[in-house]
Amino acid sequence: MKLSLQYGLTKYSASRMFGAGLLACAWLAAEAACAGSFIMGDAVSLSKLSHRYNFLSYTARGKNLALRTKFNTFNFEGDTRKVVFNNTLIWLNAPVARHWGTWTIRDLDVDKTIVPLINPSQTLKSESWRLVVLDPGHGGEDRGASDLRRGLEEKHITLELARRVQAILRKYNVEARLTRDGDQTTDLDKRCILANRWGADLFVSIHLNAAANSDSSGIETHILPPAGCPITASAFVSARDRTAFCGNRHDEANVILGYYLQRPLIKYTRQEDRGVRRSRFYVIRNVACPAALVECGFISSRNDRIKIMTAAYRDNVVRGISEGILTYLNMVKRAQALNP
Ligand SMILES: [Zn+2]
Repeated sequence: MKLSLQYGLTKYSASRMFGAGLLACAWLAAEAACAGSFIMGDAVSLSKLSHRYNFLSYTARGKNLALRTKFNTFNFEGDTRKVVFNNTLIWLNAPVARHWGTWTIRDLDVDKTIVPLINPSQTLKSESWRLVVLDPGHGGEDRGASDLRRGLEEKHITLELARRVQAILRKYNVEARLTRDGDQTTDLDKRCILANRWGADLFVSIHLNAAANSDSSGIETHILPPAGCPITASAFVSARDRTAFCGNRHDEANVILGYYLQRPLIKYTRQEDRGVRRSRFYVIRNVACPAALVECGFISSRNDRIKIMTAAYRDNVVRGISEGILTYLNMVKRAQALNP
């Protein structure tokens, strides 16, 4: 994904963004009216958190902080937003910080990151599982990231990956549609309008990455940060970050989806884990269902490019995305069975 495209449609007015195709987001008007205050709220010590949620143990060695349940481990890195949850990196909305000699985490991260991850069946009981919309990045005049000397164009690879994921989901009797099924130029707002019109229950946008630094390598999954929180790429909250978007209705489900996608992608590709990151990309903030955007390696990195050109790597990416989606859908079904 190129940065210019991530925010390419910011020129669209609010009325356009919340227009006909996004009527499902009408609730947002009231939410947006409340925007303006920084809502990160209070913090709680990790030790109190451990007692509150019956963690088996809390250990602190320097900046290495660990919370454990019977099945899950959170490894926090003090003074950063990084937490490794069961071997998968997830970016918090605010750093774990030291106050009066004790390490603390923001309440908002407890409510919207920690609790959903340790209790997905409670969090996902109000979500649905019938229709998956896959969004192959770019298309037509918009090539995306490319290395034309080697015949690599992001738009072709994302379409191939999306079609193959769709075929696997169909084998599992999951209805899956694509926002484009050919080499057409497709506006970002059209992708959201289609997903919302179809009544998508889950939206996954598929991309390959590019960066000016050719050493940047690995796989990342992007989800929307809660309103009032900075994106992972910035330490600061801008005025725009205070707006609540359609996708913020699913903050808790988004982090579960991001984790379920990133974990198998790393497991199968053995790529560097760049984590579940927070970004306000157009498509994930304007669809009315849980959503994530996967960046499946850097075309700009020699290391990644060599892999991306192999069938084995693409097989593993398809396997990872498919497994992530199926795990999410199965967890939604389980949540509904447990909470009729
Ligand atoms: Zn892209």
